[in-house]
Amino acid sequence: MSSTLTAPHAASASLTAIPVAITCGDGIGPEIMSATLRVLEAAGARIETREVRMGETVYLEGHTSGLAPDAWDVLRGTGVLLKAPITTPQGGGYKSLNVTLRKSLGLYANVRPCRAYAPYVTTHHPAMDLVIIRENEEDLYAGIEHRQTREVIQCLKLITRDGCEKIVRYAFEYARQHNRRKVTALSKDNIMKLTDGLFHRVFDEIRAEYPELEAEHQIIDIGTARVATRPELYDVIVTLNLYGDILSDVAAEVAGSVGLAGSANIGAKFAMFEAIHGSAPDIAGQNIANPSGLLQSAVLMLEYLGQPDIASTISNAWLKTLEDGLHTRDIASEQTLQVLGTQEFADAVIERL
Ligand code: NAD
Repeated sequence: MSSTLTAPHAASASLTAIPVAITCGDGIGPEIMSATLRVLEAAGARIETREVRMGETVYLEGHTSGLAPDAWDVLRGTGVLLKAPITTPQGGGYKSLNVTLRKSLGLYANVRPCRAYAPYVTTHHPAMDLVIIRENEEDLYAGIEHRQTREVIQCLKLITRDGCEKIVRYAFEYARQHNRRKVTALSKDNIMKLTDGLFHRVFDEIRAEYPELEAEHQIIDIGTARVATRPELYDVIVTLNLYGDILSDVAAEVAGSVGLAGSANIGAKFAMFEAIHGSAPDIAGQNIANPSGLLQSAVLMLEYLGQPDIASTISNAWLKTLEDGLHTRDIASEQTLQVLGTQEFADAVIERL
């Protein structure tokens, strides 16, 4: 495997502008995307954006996938998507856009760094700095769900050796390349002996190839409880789709930074980057949303595109903004000197580049 967070074409393309698809999303999406793109431009990110339409208005036009018909051409032409959150309309008949993108683009690894930014963001766990690597295509999200009778519905859990090998190897490679010391696998193989048992067995096989890294397996329930109470025990966590979905929100909440966290969805030929929060319709259009989650996702994207220098310039400027007490309303605390709006926060980051 090459790099875990670097595009296959990154090295050769790193000096020219790389085409990147963007979608501005719904709710607060357009505001945080505009703030993020202004920071990227000011930092000299070598990207050339191509907008694709997806989300609520596309659903309501009658496209049940939520993607405009020409979106796939743009996506295939770029290989990278920076995505603002979208709103899924209420009611049945609408497919999850994220599940469609993950499956169609083969985005098998979901990577979520969760770290504390104490004292600037309130948390009980200032030493927390972990990364959750979640399998993204299989498990109960594989879409094998059907009605047996009116009152009995079945959903099947799909786990394959190939899927387990890809995600477990990805986690160990990630740990190695990012100088992490330990990989913890979380599963429920004491009960689901075949499906989760396969994941655990593959983990035990692959860990032997990484003797320099500590490796351990824990049952998901005690593992989740410990992430909530002693997150500093963990470094890189690898787990199955549903467990990872729940655990990564728990971890983001424990870090105190749901509005600050970004994520990467990585496949062999495509990658998608997005904030972990939703479209926050309750605060849309008011210039009060925190653009940090999308900005952090853009930082992960620049690393993937082979522009780590620009990624760390932005990270440092962003951190300095927080350190200087310039915060958006959602993270305001006694450390805050001034509460800024979405665009003013982006201006403050730009001033510190
Ligand atoms: P949400 O994350 O949008 O909002 C939860 C709470 O957090 C709200 O009070 C909101 O104001 C606040 N919040 C979220 N992001 C913020 C930010 N950047 N700055 C400041 N405050 C922020 O979750 P929800 O309300 O459950 O979902 C709203 C919509 O988003 C739904 O339609 C849901 O389907 C969608 N959603 C989309 C994605 C995605 O596109 N990846 C992910 C989750 C939810």
